[in-house]
Amino acid sequence: MAAKSLKGREHDLADSKRQIDFSNNEIFASGDLPLFSEKIKQTKGGLLRPKTLEILQINLGYMCNQICAHCHVDAGPDRKEIMSKKTLEKCLQILEKPQYILDLTGGAPEMHPDFRWFVSKSSPNRGFRSYRAFKSYHPKSK
Ligand code: SF4
Repeated sequence: MAAKSLKGREHDLADSKRQIDFSNNEIFASGDLPLFSEKIKQTKGGLLRPKTLEILQINLGYMCNQICAHCHVDAGPDRKEIMSKKTLEKCLQILEKPQYILDLTGGAPEMHPDFRWFVSKSSPNRGFRSYRAFKSYHPKSK
């Protein structure tokens, strides 16, 4: 098993320029595959429009104790990018409206050094429910 994330191994799949090049010049080059915007028009009849904010999902960072091959954010123990406390404080301001569902994700959000502080500050009016390996909580569940 690999000991580092794709980024840590400097793998092609972690190179955003390579990803864009692959999308533009390889898989979509023939024109056989529909673009995302075209597919949305076909299935939804136009642009997607937001309704009201119900769920605030916060990705606390890419740090994780696992290195899963299927990980869509390429998390791992070598990924040190985490949300700053200053940004978490701004999230708390948004969360003063208790009707929002807060969904914490990562990486492994519980590995963030301010995870306990953030949960305790954001949860006075919220219940706690975990799913997907303790990556979320919900204000309406008590
Ligand atoms: S965030 Fe989830 S999928 Fe990604 S490496 Fe960690 S446990 Fe695996």
